[in-house]
Order: sequence, then structure tokens, then C-alpha cells
Amino acid sequence: MDYGIRGRTAIVCAASQGLGKGCALALAGEGVNLVINARGAEALNATAEQIRKATGVSVIPIAADITSPEGRAEVLAACPAPDILVNNAGGPPIGDFRDWDENTWQKAVNDNMVAPIMMIKAVVDGMIFRRFGRIVNITSRSVKAPLAHLGLSNGARAGLTGFVAGLARQVAKHNVTINNLLPGPFLTDRQIDGLNKLAAKAGQDYKTFLAARMAENPAGRFGTSEEFGKACAFLCSSDAGFIVGQNLLVDGGSVNVTM
Ligand code: NAP
Repeated sequence: MDYGIRGRTAIVCAASQGLGKGCALALAGEGVNLVINARGAEALNATAEQIRKATGVSVIPIAADITSPEGRAEVLAACPAPDILVNNAGGPPIGDFRDWDENTWQKAVNDNMVAPIMMIKAVVDGMIFRRFGRIVNITSRSVKAPLAHLGLSNGARAGLTGFVAGLARQVAKHNVTINNLLPGPFLTDRQIDGLNKLAAKAGQDYKTFLAARMAENPAGRFGTSEEFGKACAFLCSSDAGFIVGQNLLVDGGSVNVTM
């Protein structure tokens, strides 16, 4: 299947590893030139080189914090007129809401709601003008099914989801789509870190705890960044212009809902 986006340009935020990297690789596989971002330059440069070698596209790495106005300005200076934007950043910490003060909440809302909205604001009018745009926000299954230990994620990401629901319907007539991808469990560094903490809390060793979590998933496993990236690339394809304001679970069926 030809996704019809060869030669287009994408910004993929927070993409030196994990789900962001999966999206970058899948888009590059469709011939999309990239600006990728993360804070740590070493891993980011290595990922850029890996994608160039694997796909032959142009990859510009920008080491910057995407949750800060300065970081976003650096990324946008490298690519002021992207055809595709994938919003992503590190997720908020797990814990008990009684331990979170106002600053902790402000950071979660900034990183997982305000930052992606600022990126959308910076690029969406250009996309409307050029009559093509694909924006994908990486959120979480916690938007559909709240996870008790992830209250900061449940709250902040729901705010982004509500905003996107409205804006997506305002820009769709210009062939600009905004959708959210909701990851379930993927065995990335963030997930491994969280599982280690939850295993310790439950008094279990990590391997036993992980095997039980995998067995709970209808697919009997966790997902891979590669398959997450493929879903992202499809939402960015030229033929996906009628998929508007959706929240697509990529979770092996772990959220137990009919719709
Ligand atoms: P990951 O493996 O830890 O990778 C995170 C990536 O984001 C790294 O490249 C990291 O590089 C970069 N990053 C983090 N903070 C950044 C910032 N402020 N500015 C720029 N880059 C930043 O995480 P992941 O599992 O792929 O998760 C990605 C997102 O999906 C997170 O928001 C996470 O909460 C959400 N999610 C993941 C899962 C899952 O199962 N993995 C499930 C639900 C939701 P640097 O550290 O060098 O910046």
C-alpha cells in the first residue's frame, strides 16, 4: 500500500527511543523526511543515523526540551512548515495523588497538554494554507480507562483530548486531520521503569510481575514500537483524510470496552 506521503516532511517529537522512534522509523519507511527531537543529543544523533541508513531519508536531529517554549522554537526553526506533526513527550510519574503538589500538576499539564497544543498552534495554519496536514498526538489508554497510579496522565491527557476533539472538526475541511494514538502496554524504557516500581510495590520480582501483566492482555503480550509506528504512519497517509478527531487504542485489546 502506498501511503502517498513520500517526500513530505514531519516533525516527530520525543523520538530518540520508544514510541516516538517507532513513529519516526515508520514515517521514514514511507519516504518522509524528518526533524526528530529529544533532550539527550547522543541517543538522538544515533537514532537519526540509524533512520538515515535504514531508509535514505533526510533526518535532522534537534536536541531540545519540547516542553519548553525555547525547545519548541528550536524544533520549529529547523522545520517551520511541516506536513506532519507527531506530538510526544515523556509521561508524568506514577504515584498517589496525595503526594502531588500544585507544581507537579502544573508540570504534567504543561508537558502533556499545553506543549502539544502549542506545537499544533505553531503549524496548523500553514497546513490549512497548503491544504495538507496530519497531526498525531501520542496520549495513553489512560484517557479511555483511567489507571489508578497514573492520575497525572489521566487528567492532563484528557485535557488535550478535549481540546483536540474541538479543533480537529474545525480544520478537517482543509485536509488537515488531528487524531490521537492511545498506547496500551509497550515494553519501552518508560514502561520497564514503571513496571519495576509496581513490582517492587507488590513485593514481586520483575520477571514474574511482567509475565503476569502480559498474560492479562488479550493479545498475550506487550506491543512493539514498530507496530505502534505503523499505526501512526497510516493516520498520516494521504488517504486518511476522513479520519478526524479519533482516539485510536493500540493496546492489544487491554481496554475492555465495546466501542
Ligand atoms: P520512552 O521509551 O521513555 O521514550 C521517551 C522519549 O521521549 C525519549 O526519546 C526521550 O528522550 C524523549 N523525551 C522525554 N521527555 C522529553 C522532552 N521533554 N523533550 C523532548 N524529548 C523528550 O517512553 P515511551 O514509552 O516511548 O513513551 C512515550 C509517551 O507515551 C509517554 O508520554 C508515555 O507516557 C506514553 N505512554 C507510553 C506507554 C508505554 O507502554 N510505553 C503507554 C501509555 C502511554 P530524552 O530523555 O533524551 O529527552
